[in-house]
Amino acid sequence: MNEKRFSNIKLNNWLVRQCASIGVKQLTQIQENCIPQILDGKDVVGAAKTGSGKTLAFALPILQKLCEDPYGIFAVILTPTRELAYQIADQFAVIGKPMNLKCSVIVGGVDMVAQGQELTKKPHIVVATPGRLADHIESCNTFNLSKIKFLVLDEADRLLSGQFDEQIKTIFKVLPKKKQSLFFSATITDALEKLKEVTGNEVFFYQAPNDI
Ligand code: ADP
Ligand code: MG
Repeated sequence: MNEKRFSNIKLNNWLVRQCASIGVKQLTQIQENCIPQILDGKDVVGAAKTGSGKTLAFALPILQKLCEDPYGIFAVILTPTRELAYQIADQFAVIGKPMNLKCSVIVGGVDMVAQGQELTKKPHIVVATPGRLADHIESCNTFNLSKIKFLVLDEADRLLSGQFDEQIKTIFKVLPKKKQSLFFSATITDALEKLKEVTGNEVFFYQAPNDI
């Protein structure tokens, strides 16, 4: 059962091994359903309750694509709080260790200058809260987000609830039109439904059942 779920999807062995090293031997529903669609190039809106492993649902396929064509900055992950940003970066760091993954956390409460320098070093993955990333874009902008392959909105329902509109607009302006957009949240809200019209790509919607 365990192996079957992993072998159903085309994840590289090294990723499966890294998962096993942190005790992930079986995929959750959201992972099993969304990872193949992401590997297939689709935009994805995925909803599942807290604790169902949404981070790995986007981190694993992003890391697989990154190691096929490694360059920075490959993906931008937006999330509403500092704590979530650090948690997401931790999961990327653990899984991405064998490929010397460089992941930067861009959140408030940290020196802007040092953070800006980190961004110029082209980390593969930028995990950010919208406010601080928008600050960097508006102040120095010595880094380039115009070639990213993936944009992730983690806790997308919260990010799109209105509170972050200005910052998100600033960020979206410097992102390329052609990219894969992945939106994960606990619930699919109206704002997420509308993505079908915005991205211009084929969007795969998945709402997990209550079990994980
Ligand atoms: P969510 O974002 O859906 O609230 P997280 O991605 O933060 O959930 O995952 C919650 C915890 O579950 C993390 O500690 C993570 O390492 C663990 N986890 C993720 N996927 C699996 C899995 N397939 N099997 C076991 N644990 C997992
Ligand atoms: Mg989460």
